[in-house]
Amino acid sequence: MKLDRRHPRYASLLQREALVKGYESGVTALAGLIAHGRGEAFDYLLGEVTTPMAEEAAEAAAALLLLAEKPVISVNGNTAMLCPRELVDLAETVGAELEINLFYRSEERARKIAEILRKNGAKEVYGVAPENEIPGIASLRKLADRAMILSDVVLVPLEDGDRTEALVKAGKKVIAIDLNPLSRTSQAADITIVDNVVRAVPLLRTKAEKLKGKKKEDLTRILESFDNRRNLEEVTKHIVNRFIS
Ligand code: ATP
Ligand code: MG
Repeated sequence: MKLDRRHPRYASLLQREALVKGYESGVTALAGLIAHGRGEAFDYLLGEVTTPMAEEAAEAAAALLLLAEKPVISVNGNTAMLCPRELVDLAETVGAELEINLFYRSEERARKIAEILRKNGAKEVYGVAPENEIPGIASLRKLADRAMILSDVVLVPLEDGDRTEALVKAGKKVIAIDLNPLSRTSQAADITIVDNVVRAVPLLRTKAEKLKGKKKEDLTRILESFDNRRNLEEVTKHIVNRFIS
């Protein structure tokens, strides 16, 4: 079926189609489609646009990624289908490693995701056969490769709450991209960008490009003036207000 660009839900339909393709080719897990549905519901409530709150969070996140010594971007089956090129470009811009992390892990799925990232320009992809573990995670998401173990800052688009908490406990600074401001992931992360990954990842890159030439003190100032709790409160209020009016 060919999607018509004039359809009012064109962008949303494209994402669904990409994920269905991902499921059929063994890249996305069946449960990943359900997780996307939860995300879609929140995106609908946000009006499917990037809010000023998400802009602010993305700016702080870009500053943190640029200040990081060893940043890592975590990739799963959904993000590999939704925005592979954008993830690779962001990694390049901020000097981050890409590491695959899967709830429904199989080596075959991981290899397919690595292949997609390479096709989109990634030189090195971690996490195909990880041998280490992050303690305190009750799923195969506990598996970690060298990049994750050594990292100081981790970007987790579409994450599970328990891994977010475990990464924070392991001493990492965590940036989450999650459409649900109430999820455990959103609540536990140091910086939460409440936005769709298809918008948030390119936004992060644009912010990083803009901040790249700045001095360390300026980046630190941006980071320190950001308050995640307040940002999440504002997003939640924004959703409620849209409901009321
Ligand atoms: P948590 O484990 O953090 O409490 P959860 O169990 O409710 O969250 P999961 O199924 O673990 O949710 O992960 C899916 C999360 O990813 C949801 O919070 C959902 O809102 C979010 N999500 C799904 N699709 C997208 C997307 N395209 N962009 C951003 N976030 C998304
Ligand atoms: Mg979860």
